Amino acid sequence: MIDLPMPSVRTPAPTTGGLVDTFGRVARDLRVSLTDRCNLRCTYCMPEAGMPWLPKTTLLTDEELLRVIRVFVGLGIDQIRFTGGEPLLRPGLVGLVEQVAALTPRPRIALTTNGVGLARIAPALKAAGVDRVNISLDTIDREEFLALTRRDRLPAVEEGLAAAREAGLTPVKVNAVAMRGVNDESIPDLLAWCVDRGYELRFIEQMPLDADHAWTAESLVSREEILERLSARFALTALPSSARGSAPAELFLVDGGPATVGVIASVSTPFCADCDRVRLTADGQVRNCLFSEVESDLRTPLREGATDAELAGVIRGEMWRKLSGHHIGAADFHQPERSMSAIGG
Ligand code: SAM
Ligand code: SF4
Repeated sequence: MIDLPMPSVRTPAPTTGGLVDTFGRVARDLRVSLTDRCNLRCTYCMPEAGMPWLPKTTLLTDEELLRVIRVFVGLGIDQIRFTGGEPLLRPGLVGLVEQVAALTPRPRIALTTNGVGLARIAPALKAAGVDRVNISLDTIDREEFLALTRRDRLPAVEEGLAAAREAGLTPVKVNAVAMRGVNDESIPDLLAWCVDRGYELRFIEQMPLDADHAWTAESLVSREEILERLSARFALTALPSSARGSAPAELFLVDGGPATVGVIASVSTPFCADCDRVRLTADGQVRNCLFSEVESDLRTPLREGATDAELAGVIRGEMWRKLSGHHIGAADFHQPERSMSAIGG
């Protein structure tokens, strides 16, 4: 649990400079959700059925997205990460990447995907300007994969990973969430598999963002437990925090290196004080935090003819009300209404 002061100064948001909040943090990393739809149904994210989709007319078009991204870049954003839902389901993805890569200054372009369908599109994404890719894979056991994602698509993800490496989308990073009673015991197998193939594995603690609201603190497979399980098979050597830069993953050399494994302890050791992120949902809402219970609407002013300066004002205002931390574990914590796939992870 972390200390949660509210923003103390109720002065208006600044009208110049970068995207600063009242705690002095500056947003540089924009997560753009391209769709709320997905071809998997991970239990920690989506329900098995009955997910209400965003109405098509509310989704930002490619042109609208590009305009908004340009405004964000003008406000100091230097990394765009496309996510979702599953971003590879967005038909115009390659063209969008090309257009973002043509912006000045050119932001770094990253993609978070479940890997299904990546085999087909990896070379085109690389050519269009994707710099880094994170592929989500929680287990290399087919039964466990099916239980976790409710879809039998492990071979497609394996192909996607190999294609990313062949296309030069390197280093290929793998994100994994450990779920008690499903894949927690096999996490050392996943690490061995990734080390063999040169993929950089990072475990992320499960956050209360599942559509089923089934998350409990008791079921959390914590950083400590993950490290304990990995240490039973591998010698882990902690790298100094300077090795991770502003990235939230704690890094460890595996068996003396050069392979590393990361742990992102978003719940048990939050890194909110160093947060440099802001999010745009597929329906054009700006969120200053994954756990925010409020958002700022960019879509309406955008469609009503707002100027870039007016859009920038909405974004600045949203950042200015960012809280110091995510509240998980505090008595007043409420899980946000949107689940992970509708926010953009
Ligand atoms: N569909 C893509 C994918 O799975 O990579 C992109 C969107 S997904 C929401 C982005 C990341 O969020 C994935 O790495 C996924 O494992 C992670 N994620 C989803 N729900 C989560 C949760 N409740 N806690 C922690 N990570 C979660
Ligand atoms: Fe889809 Fe990614 Fe959510 Fe899994 S984590 S259901 S792949 S959006």
